[in-house]
Amino acid sequence: MKFGTRLVNYDAAPGDSNRPMATPIYQTSTFEQERADSFGQYDYSRSGNPTRRVLEDQLAGLENGKRGFAFSSGMAAVTTVARLLSVGDEIVADWDLYGGACRLFSKVLDRAGVTVRYADASDPEIFAQSFSAKTKLVYVESPTNPLLRVIDLKAISVLARQRGALFCVDNSTMSPYLQNPLDLGADIVLHSATKFLSGHSDVTGGAVIVKDEALAQEIYFLQNAEGSALGPFDCFLVLRGLKTLKLRVQAQQTNAGIIAGFLLAHPQVREVYYPGLPGSHGYDIQQEQARGAGAVLSFTTGSFDRSRRIAETARLFRISVSFGSVHSTISLPGSMSHASVPVELQAVRALPPDLVRISVGIEDEEDLLADLSRAIDSGCSRRLDESIGLGTVG
Ligand code: PLP
Repeated sequence: MKFGTRLVNYDAAPGDSNRPMATPIYQTSTFEQERADSFGQYDYSRSGNPTRRVLEDQLAGLENGKRGFAFSSGMAAVTTVARLLSVGDEIVADWDLYGGACRLFSKVLDRAGVTVRYADASDPEIFAQSFSAKTKLVYVESPTNPLLRVIDLKAISVLARQRGALFCVDNSTMSPYLQNPLDLGADIVLHSATKFLSGHSDVTGGAVIVKDEALAQEIYFLQNAEGSALGPFDCFLVLRGLKTLKLRVQAQQTNAGIIAGFLLAHPQVREVYYPGLPGSHGYDIQQEQARGAGAVLSFTTGSFDRSRRIAETARLFRISVSFGSVHSTISLPGSMSHASVPVELQAVRALPPDLVRISVGIEDEEDLLADLSRAIDSGCSRRLDESIGLGTVG
């Protein structure tokens, strides 16, 4: 079956003689046991729940993995992957990561004796120089967030395998509709299910998918031991959102391509970061390893004040962290989602202060273009620029 069919055609309620079309919400913490000395398939929802199981199996299938795990947030998923490491182990990560992942790696894992090195994974040769005998986990996003740099996942997977390290890819900006990192050599795929997987800004969740059974056992052990699984109702919401993943991403991506072209031609815009633009960073690799460029893009304006005014003037693009929802959103990563990036990393990572990130929704393209055009025109107005001593861009 092809992807769109798989999104809706699966057993929504295994073993249920009523044969519901949608997965029932098993809102129960415990399951009665027939006998005192033996357990059925489910005994306690932290350890396993039928609604969660349907979601986890569906996620595994969509990412071409063997086992999937649903977590209470994307960060709970990242934390679980990091828990695979022990004292003295090291993570090598790309430097353009979601700020919360950097905060976890740099400010929490150090308490458990795990260290992190950041390097440029878009250059595999340079990246390889950061590996040491202690490197146990290689961690990247692609395209990266918020600079939309493309990482050659096959090349990095080869490096990780040669050094005996696990390779984890955060696939949140793409979704399984556009990219399947396990097919490109990754050991672990991770999602903030808050983003495209659920897609409606109504649930916080995370996912981990693996293909190796021994690794799956370890992830399951940690999920159960730490109690970080997603609750039944939220699993239902992700399952519902997933059914329209293809339709949403197609519509969002089409809008994003049109907006990227508009921004590229706009005289007040300096740089546009979108891997769907020919000549953009990693364009050829993106063409090879993914089935599209997605619906997240960033641009610069020449000044933080202009960018702030654009964000505050836009109406359809609502100021909000996160991405991947049916609504278009706008944010300034430097002062919002990535403000938690540790100072030592801020010094080496080139995150422009005037960077504006937008996540494009399913609204009509004419409305989105009109809104963005108006926001940029008023945000970059000569009168406002002069009042704070800025020259015009362009
Ligand atoms: N990964 C990426 C790329 C993200 O952007 C985020 C959150 O914005 C996360 C992981 C963390 O996910 P959550 O907010 O669901 O914990």
